Amino acid sequence: MKLKFWGVRGSIPTPGKDTVRYGGNTPCVEVRPDPETLLILDAGTGISKLGDELMLSEIPVRAYLLLSHTHWDHIEGFPFFNPAMKEENEFTIIGSSHNGIPLRSILSDQMRAMYFPLQFDELKAKINFRTIEEDVFSIGSTKIEAIYVNHPGYTLGFRITNGNKSLVYISDNEPFNSELSDSVMNKVEKPVIDLFKKVNGNPNSRIAEFARDADMLIHDSMFTPGEYKRREFWGHSDYRFALQMAVEARVKKLVLFHHGPHHTDDDIDAIVQNCKIELQNQPHRPECIPAAEGLELQV
Ligand SMILES: [Zn+2]
Repeated sequence: MKLKFWGVRGSIPTPGKDTVRYGGNTPCVEVRPDPETLLILDAGTGISKLGDELMLSEIPVRAYLLLSHTHWDHIEGFPFFNPAMKEENEFTIIGSSHNGIPLRSILSDQMRAMYFPLQFDELKAKINFRTIEEDVFSIGSTKIEAIYVNHPGYTLGFRITNGNKSLVYISDNEPFNSELSDSVMNKVEKPVIDLFKKVNGNPNSRIAEFARDADMLIHDSMFTPGEYKRREFWGHSDYRFALQMAVEARVKKLVLFHHGPHHTDDDIDAIVQNCKIELQNQPHRPECIPAAEGLELQV
């Protein structure tokens, strides 16, 4: 399984001299479980450059776009995804609806005339929608599992398995706090809270179990532990929680993702260094690396 990162930044694009090494585009990851299958994880601004590369294809592009959720940083690149404007291409967009609002409406609304010059119905490619909740399904020989995670907006994590290799993508997720989950302003939807509350013991073991023994875990690491104390219930993790999930799940490699827009390249270097130091005292020691735009990995 091959993957390439096209956007690794959370919340808002962050161009500038302090973010050139890790990149400032919002989430988008290209995954090729086998040579015939193209999965695209999220449609943040990084998808625009991926689209430019796909436009060079001499054969029609057929791809599956898996949306973790539809907050802006995960869909705002879609209107700039040029392969959707070519008639011979076909895309299947997979994700959750939101309190009865269909996925198609959520995506197409951001291209209404007051927001964008080209409307969704004018796209020439064939575009299919598949609405899922927690689910297991196959795309060719690849198995996809979806789980709701602790972030507002019906946010999904994905586990992608091909042969004996597994990759887990959890872009936006916060440690679940059972006592406070019902009383906060930035509410995660009740059906998702209930899924966490059903867990015996630590509710976050739900995430660790989902990632169990994966070859790679790509996880939200937006904050440092100090920053997280002041940003509880924003829906994101500090790197230490990402590390804890990777250790508990016994994954081989942790990729720190959804970098905070307030973090410079040097800040991210410091986070990775701290991660490596903290790993020395852990019973299981996954490799820990930061996601970076243009980084290509093999699972
Ligand atoms: Zn996000």
